Amino acid sequence: MHKHLKALTMLNAIPSFEKEVRDYMKATLDGQAEISTDRLGSFISKHGDQGPKVMMAGHMDEVGFIVTRITDEGYVKFTPAGGWWSQVMLAQQFNITTQKGKKVRGAIGAKAPHILTPEERKKPVDMDDMFLDIGAKDKETALSFGVNVGDMMTPYIETTVLSDEKYYLGKAFDNRVGCAAVLDVMAHYAKNDHPNELYGVATVQEEVGLRGARTSAYQVAPDIGIAVDTTISHDFPGGSKETQLGKGPAIMIRDSSMIGHKGLRDFVLEIAKTQDIPVQLTSLTRGGTDGGQMHLAKNGAPSIAFCLPVRYLHSHTSMIHEDDYTHLVKLLIAVIDALDAKAVEAITYDA
Ligand SMILES: [Zn+2]
Repeated sequence: MHKHLKALTMLNAIPSFEKEVRDYMKATLDGQAEISTDRLGSFISKHGDQGPKVMMAGHMDEVGFIVTRITDEGYVKFTPAGGWWSQVMLAQQFNITTQKGKKVRGAIGAKAPHILTPEERKKPVDMDDMFLDIGAKDKETALSFGVNVGDMMTPYIETTVLSDEKYYLGKAFDNRVGCAAVLDVMAHYAKNDHPNELYGVATVQEEVGLRGARTSAYQVAPDIGIAVDTTISHDFPGGSKETQLGKGPAIMIRDSSMIGHKGLRDFVLEIAKTQDIPVQLTSLTRGGTDGGQMHLAKNGAPSIAFCLPVRYLHSHTSMIHEDDYTHLVKLLIAVIDALDAKAVEAITYDA
């Protein structure tokens, strides 16, 4: 399995709690790029100092929860950080990361079917009625485990390859895929030339409104923005098949945060065609990417989002295809190689 994807998906980071992933990014690119952060904690790596500023960004945060209360009986109540559908949460395992960095495992309690009334069986359980059971006999015991109000709570699953080893199952592919791609692309350019000032960025707080993209794009002031993120894979039974696993990264035409820049999209599609890299086209009416902030930085930057199709986004158990990741990295490198001053000028002013 891809080394960074395995390691990054096993780390825990919700909006505003991105330290574990940021430390991994820093340690991996140490000595290979110039490294800084913005003041909210977005990771910024830079390579090259001539030509247009090309900013590629993936977000470090995953969807999770924050502990809000510990009951007298030792149960943990929580509030979501990012978008969850309550139906995927019951009887799932989570880790609480304590102040000291210790992991405390628990499961969200669910009534056994034997005691559900016919009425209860028909409706999904409200998130406000859920609780995490960490096996503490009372509040004092829960506190003795190190659990406190304000701690982050993240899904627990061991990232794994399935019978067809191209299929990966795990949490947080949204968007450790983007973080891994930033690492792989920056590592490539530590050894290869490119015609631009390249920024490999891993943002904070995307899942609560693209906040780190706003602050990091302000710091970088890009000429071109490329968001590297994930999107819905529509190949489940009854799905539209608009995007499918294994058919390549998806180019986002529009989502609720941005209409992909047309000139840049044409440029990318031409490169994909000549280099024989499979891509899919997609759009979303709800949800956005860091491109939503990058394209509005300073006086504007033509921007686009490359999104890896993921089955079961924003749940414990999401699925990706290794080939899509490989093609995503290939596409990024091919596009960055081609984004010289002349190309950026034409994209910006002639398209
Ligand atoms: Zn995302």
